[in-house]
Amino acid sequence: MPAVFIGHGSPMNAIEHNRFTTAWAEFAGSIPKPRAVLAISAHWYIGHTAVTAMANPKTIHDFYGFPPNLYAVDYPAPGSPELAEEVVRQLDPTWVGLDQDSWGIDHGTWSVLVHMFPEADVPVVQLSIDATKSISDHLDIGRRLNSLRESGVLVLGSGNVVHNLRMLDWSAPESAFDWNAEFDALVRGIMQSSPGRIADVQVDRNFARSVPTPDHFLPLVYVAGVAAAAETSAKVLVGGPQYGSLSMTSFVVD
Ligand code: ZN
Repeated sequence: MPAVFIGHGSPMNAIEHNRFTTAWAEFAGSIPKPRAVLAISAHWYIGHTAVTAMANPKTIHDFYGFPPNLYAVDYPAPGSPELAEEVVRQLDPTWVGLDQDSWGIDHGTWSVLVHMFPEADVPVVQLSIDATKSISDHLDIGRRLNSLRESGVLVLGSGNVVHNLRMLDWSAPESAFDWNAEFDALVRGIMQSSPGRIADVQVDRNFARSVPTPDHFLPLVYVAGVAAAAETSAKVLVGGPQYGSLSMTSFVVD
């Protein structure tokens, strides 16, 4: 089973159809149906590592100020308590909490899955991002997820390569500031050659502006870890700057 990182952009992508959502749907149509999705979303960024372990995770609308039809989206995919237990074993000795009732499927995950698996018939487990860990730590956790792919688990990272909401240019929907384009090219180069070196981006001069907070970048690091463990590299699924200071570039690891 491949692994994939999706640059999810605005929550509105859940209810829009554009070249990004088309690429996500075509990717899902090109692979065998997964046993389950293990999703690492930018929007479950907490103080420890946890997995959703409930049989029926709720759809979480974790955003403000969007139209009512976005709040009406429900993604009733089942959970997979079995996969949650497998993840706990796989990540040992890192402690992983089994979440029964606090989280569910957040919009980082469902805004993508409504396009990939619109029937909501593939079980979904989310893995939280521990905000106290370093990029290298997250890369290591990603490495330990690689073997789940052999049993049909689709590892899905959902975030953005570049995510700076304070510098958005609403007049430029399909463009990037120079620093954004440079950082995006750097990340592409690493993912396409040596994903195990993804932590190197931290010393780049554009890192602070491109990754002002780690939450949206770290899901990519998990997919880089999978690729590194598999001793392979990633391909660009769809590339794209948005509004000057976002990049929705997405990657596939075969
Ligand atoms: Zn987001």
